[in-house]
Amino acid sequence: MTRAVSRLRQAVGKTFVLDDPASLLAYESDALTLFRSKPSAVVLPRSGEEVAACVRILHEEGIPFAARGAGTGLSGGALVPEGGVVLALARMDRVVEILPQARMATVEPGVVNAALSREAKKYGLRYAPDPASQVVSTIGGNLAENAGGPQCFLHGTTTNHIQWVEVVLADGSVETWGTASGEDDLDLRGFLVGSEGTVGIAVRIGVRLIPIPEAVETLLAAYPDMQTACDTVTAIVAAGMTPVALEVMDHRAVEAVENSNFRAGLPRDAGAVLLVEVEGDRERVSSEASTVESILAERQPLEVRRAVDENERLLLWKARKGAGGALGRFGPDTYVMDGVVPPSKLAKVMAFVEEVQEEVGLPVANLFHAGDGNIHPHFSYDARNPDQVRAVEEAGARILRYCLDLGGSLTGEHGIGLEKEHLLKEQFDPASLALMERLRKVFNPSDLLNPGKGLPLRKGCGEAFHRHGGVSGGA
Ligand SMILES: Cc1cc2nc3c(=O)[nH]c(=O)nc-3n(C[C@H](O)[C@H](O)[C@H](O)COP(=O)(O)OP(=O)(O)OC[C@H]3O[C@@H](n4cnc5c(N)ncnc54)[C@H](O)[C@@H]3O)c2cc1C
Repeated sequence: MTRAVSRLRQAVGKTFVLDDPASLLAYESDALTLFRSKPSAVVLPRSGEEVAACVRILHEEGIPFAARGAGTGLSGGALVPEGGVVLALARMDRVVEILPQARMATVEPGVVNAALSREAKKYGLRYAPDPASQVVSTIGGNLAENAGGPQCFLHGTTTNHIQWVEVVLADGSVETWGTASGEDDLDLRGFLVGSEGTVGIAVRIGVRLIPIPEAVETLLAAYPDMQTACDTVTAIVAAGMTPVALEVMDHRAVEAVENSNFRAGLPRDAGAVLLVEVEGDRERVSSEASTVESILAERQPLEVRRAVDENERLLLWKARKGAGGALGRFGPDTYVMDGVVPPSKLAKVMAFVEEVQEEVGLPVANLFHAGDGNIHPHFSYDARNPDQVRAVEEAGARILRYCLDLGGSLTGEHGIGLEKEHLLKEQFDPASLALMERLRKVFNPSDLLNPGKGLPLRKGCGEAFHRHGGVSGGA
């Protein structure tokens, strides 16, 4: 390792290789604090060439490594087994160019999602995928997880907005996948997006931008209970409406937001609040908003209102996107789950979440991308308490199994990572898993690039990553 660190320092400069214990501490977890694993070193390259040089060194030295964006991932994806090296790409944060005519931009992977939209706004454009973490998370991390967000209901997830990628492969060679024109028979670009950092490291990314719409209307409806909010979502989808966003927050999430700096005047007495946004040209927005409004009014809401201006609209989204952070007041740790059901099964799955919460006895808040059937129960717990850790993990697994029973999926946008690998065989048959494994081996033959993620762990691999309260002694 000493030799590897010294070679890495030659490649990127002495200052940009961290190996002191205090600095490494910041990289031992992502936003899923259930797992942690301290790397031997963290390298902060500044360019694709530096990433390739580092990967060549790590490949030659046989040291496991993984890319890291902002570390907001919620499945343990950016962790390396102890002894491994993290390639932290935060310094690669340049928007290289924006081509307004082509509605395209070229960015480095460490560009923060919201920063790209800020730049694009100068040209009347924006980057559509808007994860709630967008003020922090990076385009590279979004690409690896195929991130979604409220607006993805209409515009599609990250994969629909990535045109091409310059990628450093596990041996340090560099290839470009996808093309600016969109011609790409093999679609390795599509294979890379959502591969959770196990196929290659994106070092330059061509993204699509879309025009900022002429008009936007945001509607809020408050219901006495979650079931009515979910039935309303189903009715909006069944009516063939295409809002840009359909989001739900439950009573606990509303309470947390209203007691925080993100407060937006959400109705505190509501069992659930539904946010619906429509966008497009003025005529379409006016007619869609009226239709949505009448559907929202059908099930005896406590309140239906429209944001009166852009300020109120932004305030409502700030509340929705800040809600995850505001939940910190319910416990020192949060376990954010991610599962998917067909939208028509939302009411059923939320009733099950309620049942599980009562059994577990820990606070659960729900805020989720309802239009996509993508649920996110947030369990508040104390990671220093092994019983609570076990309880939230078991509860999470039960909810995910129920999602599968309802015809859904183990993940909508947070990935499999370390968190869900033990459940994969419940969604996929052995032949499908073997095919995935074979495909990964083509690009990652020695499994040094982000080992242990996204596929069932090999024997002995599980011990490489520690859970709080687990093998290595908890928090
Ligand atoms: C409060 C909060 C709200 C969230 N809301 C959403 C949401 O609405 N929608 C959503 O989809 N997610 C959400 N997330 C999860 C998380 O923000 C996303 O998964 C995000 O895409 C991760 O980006 P990151 O830059 O933090 O990546 P990291 O966490 O650093 O890394 C995630 C994965 O990407 C890989 N990776 C990073 N950079 C590269 C690269 N250049 N090339 C290849 N692989 C790479 C890493 O190895 C790792 O496997 C939320 C998280 C939090 C904490």
